[in-house]
Amino acid sequence: MGGMMSADLREVVKKYTLQNAALFGGKANPKAVLGKVLAEQPELRSRAKEVAAAAEEAAREVQAMPFDDICRMVGDIDPNLLKKTKCEKKHVLPDLPGAEEGKVVMRFAPGPSGPLHLGHTRVAILNDEYVKRYKGKYINRLEDTNPDKIDPDAYKMIPEDLEWLGIHVDETVIQSDRFEIYYDYAGKLIDLGKAYVCTCQADTWRKLKEESKACPHRDQSPEEAHALLDKMLSRGFREEEAVLVVKTDLKHPNPAVRDFIGLRIVDSVPHPRTGTEYTVYPMMNFSVAIDDHLLGLTHVIRGKDHLNNTLRQEYIFDYFGWKKPWYFHYGLVRIPEAILKTSTVGKGIKSGEYSGWDDVRLGTVRAMAKRGISAEAIRSYWLDVGMKEVDIEFAWDNLYAFNKQIIDPVADRYYFVWDPQELEIVGVDKLESRSPLHPDHPEKGVRHHVLAPPLKVYITGDDLAGFRERGTVRLKDLCNLRWDGERGVYTGNDHNVLREGVKIAHWAPVDGVECEVMMPDGTVKKGIAEKLPSQEEGKVVQFERFGFARIETVAPMIRAYFTQN
Ligand code: GLU
Repeated sequence: MGGMMSADLREVVKKYTLQNAALFGGKANPKAVLGKVLAEQPELRSRAKEVAAAAEEAAREVQAMPFDDICRMVGDIDPNLLKKTKCEKKHVLPDLPGAEEGKVVMRFAPGPSGPLHLGHTRVAILNDEYVKRYKGKYINRLEDTNPDKIDPDAYKMIPEDLEWLGIHVDETVIQSDRFEIYYDYAGKLIDLGKAYVCTCQADTWRKLKEESKACPHRDQSPEEAHALLDKMLSRGFREEEAVLVVKTDLKHPNPAVRDFIGLRIVDSVPHPRTGTEYTVYPMMNFSVAIDDHLLGLTHVIRGKDHLNNTLRQEYIFDYFGWKKPWYFHYGLVRIPEAILKTSTVGKGIKSGEYSGWDDVRLGTVRAMAKRGISAEAIRSYWLDVGMKEVDIEFAWDNLYAFNKQIIDPVADRYYFVWDPQELEIVGVDKLESRSPLHPDHPEKGVRHHVLAPPLKVYITGDDLAGFRERGTVRLKDLCNLRWDGERGVYTGNDHNVLREGVKIAHWAPVDGVECEVMMPDGTVKKGIAEKLPSQEEGKVVQFERFGFARIETVAPMIRAYFTQN
């Protein structure tokens, strides 16, 4: 052997990379792939560098693939490789009708009122999966036509959030760049006799509609309508004095679908981007329909809450004779215990109640990232839910289960003692412990502690109480103790005592570091942890018997954010 060609080597590496990505929901770990290849093909050890480079390259390539494709390819190589991967249980998203490779255009259309939250991630990710499956185009369309509800920072934060989610955006469109386009199409609708300018009191107009009656302006001639639209555009009307209305069917059984507002005036607040240059604003249904057509959307995925909007928008498509995109409406999601409402959060940040958009009590994408919830876990979660039309309640436990599959194999283990109590140890001169950084990866090494007299450690208040009560305890990887009424007396270091029912406690050395873990409920767990190397900053670790946490800083004290159990 030993004569494997580079191309074959890349093939082997690719195979293990695909399998590794299948195991971890789409993202391959090149180091794990390297280990696996060298373990299974020892003759390649002399070419470890080449294998490592190929693994890096393959990981990049595979990461850009939709998860379904990864599963398909792994299954094609060998169905046995699919065992224990996430492909097994996963629901594969249904194919989209009318989708042709290279021709699919889809969009994510958030309002820039703040950064993205968990609720947004479903549609953002579903679109991404389909665009990747069909090698289509992903448009991020910022729908900023309600000047009242814009946070100028959102124009920057939303693309950052999408990037963090692993979403590839091909084109960004900002609706406030397109006012003239909307005015133009309003004029065209007037020409078709499908729009009028109404100067009734809003309530009067609405009431008439409910009774299937036309307001006095509905029959105006296109000339009259044009003159009134010009007056709106040249500021001859103030806010609420006139609106452009799109005609539908006043007899439509669903009152929400009867005539809807296309353009309105807002002159009380400037627009963060366009200032006071434009005061006539399109309403969502109007700008969405026109843009969906002009941008060539082939498939639109949206929540069921948009069903009436779809019906309204279809009128505009029909009037112009435009081909409609395929529309899909997924069920609503209630996200319990998450603070999502952008306006509430925005106010809370201003008042100082929240530290920022990434405050870990919030349901924002930023807060998830800060806590150590991985983007892949969020993606797996939504792929699992799929395009279901039934309403669901977001299951945090499922998200955590997906996340654990990703963080557990890589998170280093450390001791963190909350509610720390000092415990003196007697009967021995010196103590030494070696605990693996990761129980499944001995190659990662150990945390080595040497305790010199006077021997003292910290254990939690609960563990100390248990020790006193039972009279025995084993300090993990350190020693066994007997309670003498005041202190722990050394009784050896045989971990078999655990079989005899002795309880295990974790501990922190007295030269450990202060550690604060911010919990998602806003509380803070304070204690002492063993020292962490600086390379743990930004990573998720497991504080044994406490849970996973993302480390923000390791010095002068450890600050961390709780991820999950
Ligand atoms: N800006 C709208 C929203 O986020 C657009 C959604 C859509 O048209 O599907 O709700």
